[in-house]
Amino acid sequence: MSNSYDVVVVGAGTGGYVAAIRAAQLGMKVAVVEKQQALGGTCLIWGCIPTKALLEHAHALKVVQNAKEWGVTIPAGAPAIDMGQVQTRKDKIVGGLTKGIEFLFKKNKIDWIKGTARLAGKGKVDVFEGQKQTLQAKEIIVATGSAARSVPGIEIDRARIITSDEAIHLREVPKALIVLGSGAVGVEFASIYRRFGGDVTVIELLPRLVPLEDEAVSAELEKSFKKQGIKSLTGTTVTKATVTGNSVDIEARDANGKTANLSGDMLLVATGRGPVTTGLGAEDLGLKLEKGYIRVDEMYRTNVPNVSAIGDVITLGTPGHPQLAHVSSAEGILVAERLAGKEVRPLNYDHVPSCTYCDPEIGSVGLSEAEAKERGYDVRIGTFPFGVLGRAKMAGESEGFVKIVADTKYDEVLGVHMIGPRSTELVAEAVLALRLECTVEELIRTIHAHPTFSEAVGEAAHATHGAAIHM
Ligand SMILES: Cc1cc2nc3c(=O)[nH]c(=O)nc-3n(C[C@H](O)[C@H](O)[C@H](O)COP(=O)(O)OP(=O)(O)OC[C@H]3O[C@@H](n4cnc5c(N)ncnc54)[C@H](O)[C@@H]3O)c2cc1C
Repeated sequence: MSNSYDVVVVGAGTGGYVAAIRAAQLGMKVAVVEKQQALGGTCLIWGCIPTKALLEHAHALKVVQNAKEWGVTIPAGAPAIDMGQVQTRKDKIVGGLTKGIEFLFKKNKIDWIKGTARLAGKGKVDVFEGQKQTLQAKEIIVATGSAARSVPGIEIDRARIITSDEAIHLREVPKALIVLGSGAVGVEFASIYRRFGGDVTVIELLPRLVPLEDEAVSAELEKSFKKQGIKSLTGTTVTKATVTGNSVDIEARDANGKTANLSGDMLLVATGRGPVTTGLGAEDLGLKLEKGYIRVDEMYRTNVPNVSAIGDVITLGTPGHPQLAHVSSAEGILVAERLAGKEVRPLNYDHVPSCTYCDPEIGSVGLSEAEAKERGYDVRIGTFPFGVLGRAKMAGESEGFVKIVADTKYDEVLGVHMIGPRSTELVAEAVLALRLECTVEELIRTIHAHPTFSEAVGEAAHATHGAAIHM
């Protein structure tokens, strides 16, 4: 095997492996350096896939718990979860998908170079595993991703004070789980372990759960969590966490400065993720870093010629680059196409869907009501509850709503925010609507099949013009 490539990608997450496949499709000779034993990165091995597999188990348990309502008879005894089987099934799904990427690499003639990569100067990547080898690259794409990080005063011990990396592998349901942080990762695990039978408390520094979502969505989630027995402590800071024997003792302070003490058998720290550049040689190569993230322009070029970077490890210079699998993949495709000489346009980050798979699910895209007002739009709103829909009633999933944020002047859809059944699927229609700069009128004229959950989107559009049919 020759060590010379058109493109060497560092990291085989959803950014790196997708960039590699697209580059190979466009005729380039590609190698990917990955230090893990499997391909797929955080999303496949530690993130999207294992968490959603666990959530499907939680959903299955929910259906069984409500068997009586469905007319299904179950012999005496309360249904319970078998964590051994849950982990076996989840691992099988993860294993199958990572093997799938190996197959795609073979199909596209991409070399997987196993080991840890270090940028070794112009067009050179050293790979360490056993003996060092040096790859020559016309272009390098850095896609080294992110890792969980903690907050001051809390030391992760991976036994009692854990991150999502451990939370996906638990073989016993924690009796009392405290979750720090109510972003997507925090509320998804809250849903999983509450449904599995644990006592769950979510602590959030900001005044509301899922603080990046529209305020109405946050309020609905908090209401639903309360019904499910998940406690939410918003506007609360954890100042200290101490492990004593089998428990974690937590000191927290609320917005009024009042101190509270809590105790659980595990603390899950879900306060965000930081960039991975350790050992990469980024500084030695002269790559510009900002707070540890690799600074790129809107075409994902770093300050070093022929070195691009994508995914969780980058910053575009403005806060809030979304750390999402589909964002890293979109960036990977764009870079591969740019390197192949195709015409490419910058991504519009206002059109990135955000999906949170807690119970009830959240799907959103575009501006929230508050953001639209901040940007000076004359905003109008339309909301339609799932509870009114026949399809939602049949599924026994009638919580939540679809909310449309539109501009009064041109009738343009600026944002769509939904919480409730199938929201992570329904949001796709909203993404297309924003992409095509759709008006509310066009959404109204789009025929939604009956009976479907998607009728809520059509009805929310009618509601935005003040005339929902079924309300
Ligand atoms: C619990 C959890 C749930 C999530 N759920 C979702 C979800 O539902 N939907 C969603 O869109 N996103 C989700 N995410 C986020 C998503 O996983 C990330 O945004 C995505 O994986 C980023 O892809 P990436 O390619 O930038 O980096 P990563 O996936 O982190 O991949 C980076 C790869 O680079 C490798 N690497 C690093 N340094 C080196 C080196 N020097 N040499 C060789 N290899 C190296 C790493 O081993 C890793 O495999 C979730 C994340 C977590 C933690």
